[in-house]
Amino acid sequence: MQKRVTILGSTGSIGQNTLDIVERNPEKYRVHALIAGRNSELLAQQIRQFQPAVVVVADDFVRQELRGHLESLGVPRQQVPALEVGRLAQEQVAAATETDILISAIVGVAGLPATYAGVCAGKRVGLANKETLVAGGELVMRAVAAHQCELIPVDSEHNGAHQCFRAGDPKDVRKLILTASGGPFRNTPAAELASVSPAQALNHPTWKMGQRITIDSATLMNKGFEVIEACWLFGLPPAMVEVVVHPQSQVHAMVEYSDGSVIAQICATDMRMPIQYAMTWPQRDEAPVPRIDWRQAREWQFGPPDLNRFPLLRLAYEAQEAGGASTCILNAADEIAVAAFLQQRIGFLDIAAVVEETLGRAPAQRLESVDAVLSADQAAREIALQMVDLRAGGRSLAASPDHAGPAASLAT
Ligand code: NDP
Repeated sequence: MQKRVTILGSTGSIGQNTLDIVERNPEKYRVHALIAGRNSELLAQQIRQFQPAVVVVADDFVRQELRGHLESLGVPRQQVPALEVGRLAQEQVAAATETDILISAIVGVAGLPATYAGVCAGKRVGLANKETLVAGGELVMRAVAAHQCELIPVDSEHNGAHQCFRAGDPKDVRKLILTASGGPFRNTPAAELASVSPAQALNHPTWKMGQRITIDSATLMNKGFEVIEACWLFGLPPAMVEVVVHPQSQVHAMVEYSDGSVIAQICATDMRMPIQYAMTWPQRDEAPVPRIDWRQAREWQFGPPDLNRFPLLRLAYEAQEAGGASTCILNAADEIAVAAFLQQRIGFLDIAAVVEETLGRAPAQRLESVDAVLSADQAAREIALQMVDLRAGGRSLAASPDHAGPAASLAT
């Protein structure tokens, strides 16, 4: 029987890859709802092709734009879906009876409310959005247990770990090892990091992703978020989650068991594999991803991360140990700092400084509801903005047309 898929963030990188899987397997999947932000042009094309019943966009302005694009594309009136706006509509479609599988791929903490609604409705949730667990891990995992939600990680490292954990008993796990590509500055001397540009930081060596996650990969903040996510997903203390730099990004995760055996998950770098796994688990299906040719000689390297050059990874461990709102603050401050870096208001090394300063100033109380998470997130953003202003001094937005746009959208 066809499974009905709802995609939070259909116009993004993960969202488009999810639609590719749906398109290749029309007998298995059909789209129930598409949720996006502001890219009405791409969304109109997706509506024409996948004919969802419901679509949710950011606001009325985007909805009007979308109507215009649908008309230009000649989409017949009877094929125009219900066009909704805002958070409540997102939550309703995520929890709707017609949603069998929810793919959570909105970027930022904006993805939390609808993902949480899907979790509370006991859906199969393919989780790409990091902020759901980084900002609201305790709250969300409590709901996962209470509502028997199947929360399957899409992020390649956690997806790999999910597979490795099937090889043994949880009580026999000694540690989880997450791999990191090391980003574009893996070998850049500390002295040069202060002056790297947004264009250099956006040049990720192995993955093609959205802007924020690409910068977070360059600072290793992304790996820090993954450590936090892994702690929540697999019920591990931070000390049992180790990060190893593996520039080839072919081994995604490893689990070491009590007998010294290490189980690794290996796959070419193509997000359609983990997305599809989240949709088919516990089964597997053919996936349209490149295969590794084991007849070719190859070398894979593994080494420790440099916490001095990449302090955000250390801060992530500390925030997870501290608990409460700390990881929510970490994420919010990082988002503001990354946006300011893309706008060339602050330098690359200032990202970590802004995050650390914000962590030291924002209150880290326990977060008992989605609204409490969003309030803590907002408060941390305001502090982080002050920290950015202090560091940026009189520097206003950079003239570079390449970065002003995306950075501006990240800051919202
Ligand atoms: P993109 O930036 O490519 O896409 C983000 C999506 O979120 C877009 O569809 C965007 O809509 C939508 N969006 C943004 N804000 C809102 C909002 N307020 N309401 C509704 N929709 C919104 O990001 P990615 O696809 O790269 O990443 C998505 C998430 O998955 C992130 O949390 C990322 O960390 C995580 N992830 C991504 C991986 C990857 O390989 N890309 C790997 C692992 C995790 P629009 O464009 O229409 O404004």
